Amino acid sequence: KNSIQQDIMKEAKEKKVEFIRLEFTDMLGETKNVELPIEELESVMNNEAMFDSSSIAGFSDIQESDMYLFPDLETFKVLPDAVDQDCIARFVCDIHTPDGEPFEGDPRYILKRAMKEAEDMGYTVNVGPEPEFFLFKLDKEGYPIRKMNDRAGYFDASPKDKGDQVRRDIVRTLKKFGFQMEASHHEVAQGQHEINFRFDSVIKAADNIQTFKNVVKDVATGHDYHATFMPKPIAGENGSGMHCHLSLFTNGESAFFDENDPEGISTTMKQFMAGILSHANGLAAITNPNVNSYKRLVPGYEAPVSVAWSHSNRSCMIRVPTTRGMGTRFEIRNPDPTANPYLTLAAVIHAGLEGIRHELDAGAPETRNLYEVSTEDVPTLPTNLKEAIKALQEDKVVMEALGDHTSKVYIEEKEKEWIEYSLNVSQWEIDRYMNK
Ligand code: GLN
Ligand code: MG
Ligand code: MG
Ligand code: MG
Repeated sequence: KNSIQQDIMKEAKEKKVEFIRLEFTDMLGETKNVELPIEELESVMNNEAMFDSSSIAGFSDIQESDMYLFPDLETFKVLPDAVDQDCIARFVCDIHTPDGEPFEGDPRYILKRAMKEAEDMGYTVNVGPEPEFFLFKLDKEGYPIRKMNDRAGYFDASPKDKGDQVRRDIVRTLKKFGFQMEASHHEVAQGQHEINFRFDSVIKAADNIQTFKNVVKDVATGHDYHATFMPKPIAGENGSGMHCHLSLFTNGESAFFDENDPEGISTTMKQFMAGILSHANGLAAITNPNVNSYKRLVPGYEAPVSVAWSHSNRSCMIRVPTTRGMGTRFEIRNPDPTANPYLTLAAVIHAGLEGIRHELDAGAPETRNLYEVSTEDVPTLPTNLKEAIKALQEDKVVMEALGDHTSKVYIEEKEKEWIEYSLNVSQWEIDRYMNK
């Protein structure tokens, strides 16, 4: 037995772990899990945990529904007891078919393929995600109501900010998960919050996003609040984004920094950004995956509407912060926290690498406030999910990033969602047209 397995056995014994939780992510970005008693730890680590995947989104279409959960041993964590009183340890898992091959529809595998593609071109990728969220109050039965947890705004302090203790508990819990925590603060909208954690290599960053969302929800529940990552819960207020800071490295050196460039950014970085910008519309159904996502991507709320890059302009899809040297990076601002982080990063990386391969030109940075510029001048992101699905279907690079299986099943699922939404009669329509 290799030493990492022995270390895990030892830690599990010392900490008196009773259950092992095997986590993975479905196509729609939901964390799924199955729990086994500790006696199964050895067989789990020998990749023997089988499950029936037939009712999991994105898996169902496949003939063979028996799948295997291969634990990523590096993701072993004994859960902090703030999350659960029982002593549980978790693994993030890869999905394999009965013949031992990676399952082509496993989002984590899809991201691994993108990572491999980057590595084949000589790059490693770091990602720093910034998922925002709202805290809502609960009714007597513990269900969320449409009342935010406070009336505070950007960087407001307590007692106006009523989320400070919740955020502190989230930070404490995530530290026990091994996260390197950074700043946290009240966001612009009432009841809206942001907590930052350190960037990581791409697979870990995606795993971290899932852990982060689950911890935020768990801790919020403990404070009698409901945490939501819904992109636009309140019309007329800022929505929640999940900006992602991206940087590429070659042999441990930044591939994005160029001291000879007047702006300090390399041709590689400009080409990588150009690749993403040129596939912006095809990416949208992944980065902004639901009907509500498009209610966030409107002018005036610090969310991007334009397919352009800039140094400080928050109306653009890509912004380049001022840091140079190893910290040279850009921030892609359109993703929201309901996006599947594995598929999002996979698609974004494939699009960026395509830009490098074809030496695409990102053009000059945009300096105008694009909320006020007419749309004929600058291309815009799709305005609804239907447009986004169509753009995805027409984008060969993004379709290939997802692979045959997932691109097909994803589009089917999203088309169903759009039709269901279209058939719904909303309160807005009643208010607007009832007197006709
Ligand atoms: N909430 C904004 C968004 O939707 C971002 C605001 C900010 O982080 N400055 O992207
Ligand atoms: Mg931020
Ligand atoms: Mg923010
Ligand atoms: Mg940001």
